[in-house]
Amino acid sequence: MRPSQAGATELPNLDAILPRLNDQMRDDDIWGEVADYIPELARIDPRQFAIAVVLADGTLHSAGDADTPFSVQSVTKVFTLAIALGRIGDQLWTRVGREPSGRAFNSIVQLEQEQGRPRNPFINAGAIVTTDAVLGNRQPREALAEIVQFVRTAAGTDDIHINNKVAASETTFGHRNFALAHFLASCDNLTNRPEMTLGTYFHHCALEMTTVQLAMAGRFLVDAPGLPRLVTPRRIRRLNALMLTCGHYDGSGDFAYRVGIPGKSGVGGGILAIVPGVASIAVWSPGLNRYGNSLKGTEALASLARQMSWSIF
Ligand code: GLU
Repeated sequence: MRPSQAGATELPNLDAILPRLNDQMRDDDIWGEVADYIPELARIDPRQFAIAVVLADGTLHSAGDADTPFSVQSVTKVFTLAIALGRIGDQLWTRVGREPSGRAFNSIVQLEQEQGRPRNPFINAGAIVTTDAVLGNRQPREALAEIVQFVRTAAGTDDIHINNKVAASETTFGHRNFALAHFLASCDNLTNRPEMTLGTYFHHCALEMTTVQLAMAGRFLVDAPGLPRLVTPRRIRRLNALMLTCGHYDGSGDFAYRVGIPGKSGVGGGILAIVPGVASIAVWSPGLNRYGNSLKGTEALASLARQMSWSIF
């Protein structure tokens, strides 16, 4: 049926759905809390929202503050994991597990119980080990150059940079991450000095991207013939599996239930979500829910997945 016919079912049209979603998100005035343990992030106005979608045919659709740069934080863990697996392959799994943690992103207790082998590469302890693997025996500067280049290549733009003020802010107040890194070192699970690995970790977390750039950078995880391929299809499947099971910390089950696609969140309020074979989606809204994941971002993804029938289940 043609959409103009009375009573016809409209085909999902992203250029109508995304602006509507943007309006709906702004209508409701509950925005969540910005991350305040990193002072530079505590200053961000929570009343912002953006969504961008790149389809398998390469077309880009967006709405809201989609060209405003924000702190990508833990979403970069997807890129560093891809790089670490490229460098040392399955050896990484001798140092990090692949199971959901059921704990907060910066939990210390589980690490001690499990003798310094983090549950997965997306909780902070696991991401610190992954960063240590990316660092290898190089200087942080070289490893960071590789990470930034990977993200720029993935996004198809050189206009992506690290915000040194955010990295410095996190270094000054990153007591928990220092505790995790030193505990990892005490269990012989860091090959570099904790300060070196953490310096690299804080800087890659401090990458700034716009929502459009993040959706573009996620294209390599869609595995579609028309989109850039940076890693093998087998690795794409595995990265997506980890995003689905571990990408939202102790909120991963709830995200899978409500949204039904792989996703990785960051405390800057960004989420990268992948519909395998179909689309790369980025959302951003700085206010967080009780799990530390973007409140509006999660709501918007749940609504979009429902409207587009994009749940993988
Ligand atoms: N840099 C942040 C931290 O280590 C990342 C956490 C996140 O984005 O979830 O605390």
